[in-house]
Amino acid sequence: MRRIAIVGGGPAGLMAAETLSQSGHAVTVYEAMPTVARKFLLAGKSGLNITHAEDYSLFATRFGNASARLREALDAFTPDDLTSWAEGLGTATFVGTSGRVFPKAMKASPLLRAWLRRLETQGVHIQIRHRWCGFAEGGYLFETPKGEKLVQADAILLALGGASWPRLGSDATWVPWLKEKGVEISDFRPANCGFDIEWTEAFRTRFAGEPLKSVTATSGAGTLPGEFVITEHGIEGSLVYAHAASLRDRLEKDGKAALVVDLAPGRTAERLSHDLAKQDSKASFTNRLRKGAGIDGVKASLLRELTDEADRSNPDRLATLIKALPIPLLRPRPIDEAISSAGGIRWRGIDQRYMLKTLPGAFVAGEMLDWEAPTGGYLLTACMATGRAAAKGMVEWLEQVE
Ligand SMILES: Cc1cc2nc3c(=O)[nH]c(=O)nc-3n(C[C@H](O)[C@H](O)[C@H](O)COP(=O)(O)OP(=O)(O)OC[C@H]3O[C@@H](n4cnc5c(N)ncnc54)[C@H](O)[C@@H]3O)c2cc1C
Repeated sequence: MRRIAIVGGGPAGLMAAETLSQSGHAVTVYEAMPTVARKFLLAGKSGLNITHAEDYSLFATRFGNASARLREALDAFTPDDLTSWAEGLGTATFVGTSGRVFPKAMKASPLLRAWLRRLETQGVHIQIRHRWCGFAEGGYLFETPKGEKLVQADAILLALGGASWPRLGSDATWVPWLKEKGVEISDFRPANCGFDIEWTEAFRTRFAGEPLKSVTATSGAGTLPGEFVITEHGIEGSLVYAHAASLRDRLEKDGKAALVVDLAPGRTAERLSHDLAKQDSKASFTNRLRKGAGIDGVKASLLRELTDEADRSNPDRLATLIKALPIPLLRPRPIDEAISSAGGIRWRGIDQRYMLKTLPGAFVAGEMLDWEAPTGGYLLTACMATGRAAAKGMVEWLEQVE
């Protein structure tokens, strides 16, 4: 039996603990916060979308450039495996209309409680309020309520999370310690995030919090249906998150980007133009738009916000803008508010077993690796799949170094 230290009690670390303890090793999870899996619990507040039921060949491509690298871990822990695993812990699941998979209870706490009970039964020891603070001669240093502690282990698995929502524990303070050891790390950037927009004061005050429903939006990521929300600062919500990586990259490259929104997906520009042209030109913009295009409320005000008088008085131009209204973006919202992060430990520094090439015996998993994915259950699936893959890699490595 070997002594294993797992640092980080999120879904990746806990899945690694489950796998390693099943292999008969003595596993301790060190967690900086007073409780484990805070982000997982927060994800439960919006229903806990644990995975996605779309065809697996499509699912496996959702991780951008990292899809190929993640494939082996995902093949070994597929969305079906994840739902069976949850069901094994007493959490029945269902597939929502969008293909997203949720626990029937629509929350994370029952699943987490059952999971922690299983880990306890398997002998996993959890040490809370233990913040890893770097390497020391002969071990790993932790800050604890009783002062500094040196932990020695035969192998360590780091599952410290990404850099979003740092108040939940994953604050990326580990980056310099790993860099010092020659580990290459891409800068963390917001993913699945909102964007800042220069709204007029009148629009912001009147519409912050209002959803735009049944629209489609286009960016380099393609054209997708859905909804998003006007905020104090700009826009956020599932449709914006689906385009966020493409828009963020475009902003970084060109200094400007726009989300192009179709406010009337069910109607053609020709039809809209024809119906708008029939309206009394002396009628107000609001009335012409409501009667000619069936658009009112926040959609009408967004059009007013982003067009000028010449656009609004020309039925052809107005119809074109209803079908493709560019919303110019200033910048992504700060990473602290993002659902997840892009960036992290570069793949070329990790071997097939998820071991750091410059630190033999140190394995890595979860969102701290350099991959990103849209919302839809992809994040949790990949975190758990890599937690499991890194744990299996560690078991294999320990057998070899015996
Ligand atoms: C609001 C919100 C909603 C979300 N909803 C979903 C969803 O529905 N579906 C989905 O798939 N994903 C969702 N996600 C994303 C998902 O929760 C994360 O991708 C996932 O939790 C990452 O898992 P992880 O184990 O890699 O890291 P984390 O869950 O971040 O866990 C890392 C752990 O490491 C600990 N830690 C960090 N540094 C140290 C240190 N130095 N010493 C000791 N411990 C340390 C942290 O305290 C933390 O407990 C959501 C995220 C947010 C913020």
